[in-house]
Amino acid sequence: MAQSSVMDKLVSLAKRRGFIFQSSEIYGGLGSVWDYGPLGVELKRNLKDRWWRSMVYARDDIEGVDAAILMHPKVWEASGHVAGFTDPLVDCRQCKNRFRADDERIKGTPGAPDAQCPVCGSKGTLTEPRMFNLMFKTFMGPVEEDAAIVYLRPETAQGIYVNYLNVQQSSRQKIPFGIAQIGKAFRNEITPGNFIFRTREFEQMEMQFFVKPGEDEHWFEEWRAWRMQWHRDLGIRPEKLRFHQHGPDELAHYAKDAYDIEYEFPFGWKEFEGIHNRTDFDLSRHQEHSGKKLEYLDPATNERFIPYVVETSLGADRLALVVLADAYREEAVEGESRVVLKLHPSIAPIKAGVFPLVKKDGMPEVATRIAADLRARAIPVFYDDGGSIGRRYRRQDEAGTPFGITVDGQTLDDGTVTVRDRDSLAQERVASDAVVTYLQDHLAT
Ligand code: ATP
Repeated sequence: MAQSSVMDKLVSLAKRRGFIFQSSEIYGGLGSVWDYGPLGVELKRNLKDRWWRSMVYARDDIEGVDAAILMHPKVWEASGHVAGFTDPLVDCRQCKNRFRADDERIKGTPGAPDAQCPVCGSKGTLTEPRMFNLMFKTFMGPVEEDAAIVYLRPETAQGIYVNYLNVQQSSRQKIPFGIAQIGKAFRNEITPGNFIFRTREFEQMEMQFFVKPGEDEHWFEEWRAWRMQWHRDLGIRPEKLRFHQHGPDELAHYAKDAYDIEYEFPFGWKEFEGIHNRTDFDLSRHQEHSGKKLEYLDPATNERFIPYVVETSLGADRLALVVLADAYREEAVEGESRVVLKLHPSIAPIKAGVFPLVKKDGMPEVATRIAADLRARAIPVFYDDGGSIGRRYRRQDEAGTPFGITVDGQTLDDGTVTVRDRDSLAQERVASDAVVTYLQDHLAT
């Protein structure tokens, strides 16, 4: 499959099946903002739940928070975002398009006469780069004046740092411990794109782990390994995953060491999670700017210190794109082609299709009862009695539904139904009153 055509097919499938729609589509869309439809919202929730369970429920050393999007403007001065969260921006005087100065498509040095606009092809029309802050600004209260400026947070991490002592004291955690958060972040990206890869509004799943200085490198390595394993456990093909260590010129202002976890998207290897050793940069800056002591008192040794922070930062939307791209397959089955999303069962939006083979002989009654039993246990199912059974299977394959449950002639004789596995296409007979347990067992991983 050609690379761009895979993305085109994914975007069209996502729309057709109700995973992802363009925001405000009837008005022509809003640049790089996307909405999740009925299947997409389930997929993303399942990803977030899986992350939250592994971070917060499966461990006793991580607590959750949900901080507000709006924060005191001084937070962003302290964090370095007001001064430094910038990208170099270049305009084309001819066609009025805007680019990041490091856009690979630009030939020559922007500002110089030989530089060529990648859209209209004019030479010498690109301006010199100027720095552009990526934070969205708005005003708090009724007066639109500089003193009232607040920012939409560009990362969720700061809401964790400013709360770290509140959380530590209220939950009686001791260092090392972590704080996890899932929430929206906003960046006024200059060249967003590639569907939901780079958007201006997105969700992050961030965990900040507070450690004693000197133990940071050990924890950094632990978290690096755990995070990679988490993606493998989600079923992402290992050969499509790799680490990229930041070189000295890539490291963010706060970082001592950083690794990206990259996925090989149809448009190339790109980051979708970052693991950063942020040292005591953020907490020291907040201590300085707020005038409040942010030291931790070690109860065992009576030592006071500002903890170091190891951060794992994963984009929920970018992860959704990873799992969709990784799951998308076109296959030939019994001489026919099928499109299938081989999503891990734990994140599939619909867990089972329930099909009466025909709309008579008591089959709809049994199928309806099975569907109701599953729904009563909060297992999302899709009841479908329209069209040939083959077509009904195909529709669920495309939605990533891992199981198909068919009520047929034999059901009426011996009380069993067919359970079809989406990936292997294996079919087995299961007693109709054991379907709930069967699915619970197979969805539990
Ligand atoms: P990039 O270099 O792609 O702009 P970054 O290095 O600025 O990303 P971080 O600040 O480390 O990214 O953010 C952590 C994670 O948040 C990223 O790995 C990604 O999954 C997600 N993320 C960041 N910016 C965006 C965006 N504009 N749209 C969607 N997800 C994003």
